Amino acid sequence: MTGLEKFMGTPPDTTGAAIEVTGLHKSFGDLEVLKGIDITVRRGEVVCVIGPSGSGKSTLLRCVNLLEEPTSGVVRVAGVEVTDPDVDIDGVRRRIGMVFQAFNLFPHLTALGNLTIAQRRVLGRGKAEAEEVARRNLRRVGLTEKEHVYPAQLSGGQQQRVAIARALSMGPELMLFDEPTSALDPELVGDVLAVMRRLADEVTMLVVTHEMSFAREVADRVIFMDAGAVVEEGPPEQVVGEPRHARTRSFLARVL
Ligand code: ADP
Ligand code: MG
Repeated sequence: MTGLEKFMGTPPDTTGAAIEVTGLHKSFGDLEVLKGIDITVRRGEVVCVIGPSGSGKSTLLRCVNLLEEPTSGVVRVAGVEVTDPDVDIDGVRRRIGMVFQAFNLFPHLTALGNLTIAQRRVLGRGKAEAEEVARRNLRRVGLTEKEHVYPAQLSGGQQQRVAIARALSMGPELMLFDEPTSALDPELVGDVLAVMRRLADEVTMLVVTHEMSFAREVADRVIFMDAGAVVEEGPPEQVVGEPRHARTRSFLARVL
């Protein structure tokens, strides 16, 4: 340590990593699903994960917010080691927004109710503040006029945009998306992608998707996974445009 560093105290974390995954293994019984994953997502970055069904993409996302417990390896979120046995898991999850293929809205609550319930119960916000935050986020996803509408009266694309707004209302440092448009009719996919495209400038995002045009246009980096391992990663124009590995090429030939 130099004299100046001693004087200034511990240097701040300047790596800026939102997610750091090192040597991540995950098995379900005898089935080894993740075989040693190393990835980093920097703050502000948008990283898309692509790969065949069953390659472990969802398991990777679920290990980041501990919906699955890693078998071994280290996962850090914003510098906090979430794989530390003593970590405050609820505290970590609160900092991570997650959007799934299925929208999982509460059917008996309006759009506004869906956005305020966790803010009030988990973050302890009062009604007025929770509603103000909810309205701001409904505006961000273009659904201001739907605040009093129930999920059943919304299209799939609108429901997914409510789910995104709900996650944003918790003020996450990081958003995880697991095939957010895969359950949608094709004509509804574009609205959801447009919302995500706008968010890309504001939020760190790790997105599992089969939407190659989204990955090409929005991602800073693309990670191709196959059989529980990262096969290649790099800028989209390289991984999607000029893949180096035969497995990436054959996957892209099937989805493009
Ligand atoms: P992807 O999202 O890339 O399609 P997943 O991460 O969902 O892949 O699954 C990877 C593998 O792990 C698959 O073979 C799947 O059947 C298996 N798997 C996922 N979750 C579980 C679980 N809870 N128990 C047992 N096997 C699982
Ligand atoms: Mg999946």
